[in-house]
Amino acid sequence: MPEPSRVGERVFRGIPVSGGVCRGKLLVLGKAQAQIPDRAIAEEEVAGELQRFHDARIRTRQQILEVQHQVSERTGDKDASIFEAHLLVLEDPTLIGAVTRLIQEDKLNVEQAFRRVTEQFAAAWAAIEDEYLRERASDLRDISERVMNNLLGHADENALSKLSEPCIVIAHDLAPSTTAQLDKKQVLGFATDVGSKTSHTAILARSLRIPAVVGLHGASQQLASGYDALLDGFTGTIVINPSDQTLFEYGQIVRKQADFLDSLRDLRDKPAVTCDGVEIILSANIEQAADADSVMECGAAGVGLFRTEYLFINRETLPTEEEQYQAYRQVAAALKPQPVIIRTLDLGGDKFLSHLTSPNEANPFLGWRAIRLCLQERDIFRAQLRAILRASVEGNIKLMYPMISGLEELLQANALVEEYKAELRAENLPFDDALEIGAMIEIPSAAVNADALAKRVKFFSLGTNDLIQYSLAVDRLNERIAHLYEPTNPAILRLIKMTVDAAHKQGIWVGVCGEMAGDPELTPLLLGLGVDELSVTPGILPQIKFLIRRTRMSEANELAAFALNCESSAEILARSQNLARQVTGSLATASAGQSVLA
Ligand code: PEP
Ligand code: MG
Repeated sequence: MPEPSRVGERVFRGIPVSGGVCRGKLLVLGKAQAQIPDRAIAEEEVAGELQRFHDARIRTRQQILEVQHQVSERTGDKDASIFEAHLLVLEDPTLIGAVTRLIQEDKLNVEQAFRRVTEQFAAAWAAIEDEYLRERASDLRDISERVMNNLLGHADENALSKLSEPCIVIAHDLAPSTTAQLDKKQVLGFATDVGSKTSHTAILARSLRIPAVVGLHGASQQLASGYDALLDGFTGTIVINPSDQTLFEYGQIVRKQADFLDSLRDLRDKPAVTCDGVEIILSANIEQAADADSVMECGAAGVGLFRTEYLFINRETLPTEEEQYQAYRQVAAALKPQPVIIRTLDLGGDKFLSHLTSPNEANPFLGWRAIRLCLQERDIFRAQLRAILRASVEGNIKLMYPMISGLEELLQANALVEEYKAELRAENLPFDDALEIGAMIEIPSAAVNADALAKRVKFFSLGTNDLIQYSLAVDRLNERIAHLYEPTNPAILRLIKMTVDAAHKQGIWVGVCGEMAGDPELTPLLLGLGVDELSVTPGILPQIKFLIRRTRMSEANELAAFALNCESSAEILARSQNLARQVTGSLATASAGQSVLA
């Protein structure tokens, strides 16, 4: 990594999304299309610009050959051969000639010349009828991104798979699929320009326990690889070239946090029961089968949400029924007799498969997502439902549908489960006929119609991440409106209460598996609203258990009664924070949003 010239301490502030403090060298990943320099060059600069173009192409060629080699080792030569096409595009004499002319004759700097030519070529190729040439347009976009990163001195995402030393990653954005592949030993922490607390990238950071900050606006453009930096995922701060004083202060924060977490170890085998005797089911959210270990370690009462999407992304083909069966049975067997709630596939929104053609949607979170996709892509749904049913004999599995918006979808999905049960019976494959089925309540219409849904399921789980986004019309990925994303908005609390009442009236239980459940400041409020279960990321679970065990249900009920009659989100939040702090002291409410010293 290059050593940038030393500058004084500089502080960048964003949104804290995953607690922890780390220090290391920065690796800045490029978003090549952002802020491409545009300037006229002098005659004497022409040779230098041509040389830079040549060097960037050589470097890109090396990178492609490396990736090709890695892919061919992993999956065989067939998949690696697509890179031949990339190399051909890179060496296309027409393209090189056009860029050279713009530099020599129009005196454009190389980045501009390259951008103009590649955009022109891509547009022309994309418009051609011939499928082969249209494919070349997407090769060209891929290649031009790499070349541009090399011209600008930025790393690309492939750098993440071959880091030679641990570092802090800075990027304009990181997709959930990229985040899922981060190696914790090499990526000490990360920060992005965009994003907010309930994006799946942020959720994964907490699950992987990688300190993270998002919503840094243009920081990725202002920083360069190689800087010494400190990232504080509690307060959402990045300090470049931290002074000795800053390092000393952060040393204390880290020690205090570690002592606090140590003190929670004793709670592992104790129940999550309030000090006046009300037991709450405290479960864990997981993203992959291997997370079963952390569920046991953190002292959870089972899995309240297994997000199965990560079995599907970062691979070239769909997982087979058998592969899925193995993954589900592994978790169920490891945690038996504790329940494992497996959520059916929630693709779409910010999670996509590269090989499943997805429509180019203007509003993906309102589009072809989750149960909607599964009810149309029957083969995918069938394989998953059969795998879950088959695994149900290996432990205490429950099944849950995401994004149910009304009764029709629920009935259709239930009918399919019955159909696949009949298939399995005919094939003599065992399954648990009494497997419980629940629905996520994460669309406002589902909360409002919860009484109808409650008659057809065994439990509800409130997906507050989406419920808040859809009720308040606040995109959960957008840092510019993150301040409007208010879990304590009276409308949200009323929807939660409505769902709880409908569930209890029908004699079924209701949990919360959205990130609101893992916010220690809101724990007493949710208990007071009557939820029976909280499902949170394993990293925060001991803290939530600590809080529950010190909460008095009578006080939680009073808080909820106040909140349901209050018109102001800010007042409800302040009152919730007060109660949470009163019952436990400031330490236990330190989450991703706060420093333990605050
Ligand atoms: C939610 O929406 O609250 C939820 C738990 O699901 P996801 O975050 O995966 O959309
Ligand atoms: Mg959701």
